Amino acid sequence: MKEIVPPSPPPIVRNQFETIRELFTKNVVPSYGRFELALSHGAGSHLFDVNGRRYLDLGGGIAVCSLGHAHPAITEALLEQSSKLVHVSNLYYTEPQGRLAEALVGLIGPGKCFFSNSGAEANEGLFKLARKFGHDEGRFEILTTINSFHGRTLAGIAATGQEKVKKGFEPMTPGFRHVAYNDLAAMRNAISPATVAIMVEGIQGEGGVTPATVEYLLGLRALCDEKKLLLLVDSVQCGHFRSGCFQSYQRILEGGPGGEAFLPDGISMAKSLGGGFPMGAFWVRAPYADLLSAGTHGTTYGGSPLACAVGLKILEVIEREKLAENARGMGEFLREGLEQIAKNHPQFLRGVRGLGLMLGLELAPEIPSLQVEGKLPAALFARRMQEAGALVIPAGPNVLRLLPALNLTSSDAEEGLIIIERVVAKLAA
Ligand code: PLP
Repeated sequence: MKEIVPPSPPPIVRNQFETIRELFTKNVVPSYGRFELALSHGAGSHLFDVNGRRYLDLGGGIAVCSLGHAHPAITEALLEQSSKLVHVSNLYYTEPQGRLAEALVGLIGPGKCFFSNSGAEANEGLFKLARKFGHDEGRFEILTTINSFHGRTLAGIAATGQEKVKKGFEPMTPGFRHVAYNDLAAMRNAISPATVAIMVEGIQGEGGVTPATVEYLLGLRALCDEKKLLLLVDSVQCGHFRSGCFQSYQRILEGGPGGEAFLPDGISMAKSLGGGFPMGAFWVRAPYADLLSAGTHGTTYGGSPLACAVGLKILEVIEREKLAENARGMGEFLREGLEQIAKNHPQFLRGVRGLGLMLGLELAPEIPSLQVEGKLPAALFARRMQEAGALVIPAGPNVLRLLPALNLTSSDAEEGLIIIERVVAKLAA
């Protein structure tokens, strides 16, 4: 007799998002405040969630995805290099690391590079460089700025000029003090006999998208020369052509007196350098380039052939596709559009800041529809943007950051402006 097989029960249709969130709740350290969104794949400046919904990505993975998502050149570089050599350690020479260092030196100025795995580590390297520089004179203190962000390592949070990142992790690593940004007189006054370096972002990112002024940058250079301090620039977020120039200070100073000759003593990089492949680097100016001699600093993975092949490919595409110009042009287009939206809705928007494709949109204070106990208005606005089909990133309580791919198209930018205006108009509700 034929065995009767009972029909299988209908599959439990589950929301994919809930399944993934459960995995996180059970297994992932809850150190991030995440949006209610699980992403599955992307193409260019668009992302798709696990339920198939499409979003315009104006956050670019927090200024990382320089070529957008799933760029064929990155795939090609990964495939080609990984079929040859992924990793060998820094006990040996590999060509991609040497070539990427050469390219970065060419874009900045005479000096040398060290490769790390992240922005925080790139900054750690610069802190060590500064300590080495001042060691024999007993100088070690590094001045940074209020509202700065320099990473989440112990020295990174000590260097960061925001109390919220330090809370609960005291005592802080000694040797860091914070001074008002864009205030040259305050910086001069803060210098002590122990001071060895000053670190600033060319455009403060996490702190709310605030560019340095021309006078500040030139004044810091002169001050550092006068007091024998290293001038360190954290370009992790604002660098790599985001401003329209390779370095944001180059964009800020372009065309003006002193701009051509301006060079910091150290620059940290990450994010767009690898376009999503985790890597960081610091550049150090020629006179100090050999301070970190053999055995004084290192990391297992830094500058792997795979990472550097990707970094080289990204530079090649940026040059070939004129993405610095695109960042400038699309940045201008977005900025004008945002300024118009701010003009149309002055009760909700305070204004627009930034350079190129690093823009900040400031919300007016105390918008009634964005007042929710325990939630920041910028995060609530970003959530509304997500519901409307676009991703933006909060920077502090009242600023939204736009850090899209450098190859953002004009139709992407138009789509972004339409969604932003729609969300702003609904703030009245
Ligand atoms: N410096 C700046 C200016 C940053 O914006 C960030 C990250 O957002 C960092 C350093 C830290 O970089 P990472 O997260 O790669 O360690």
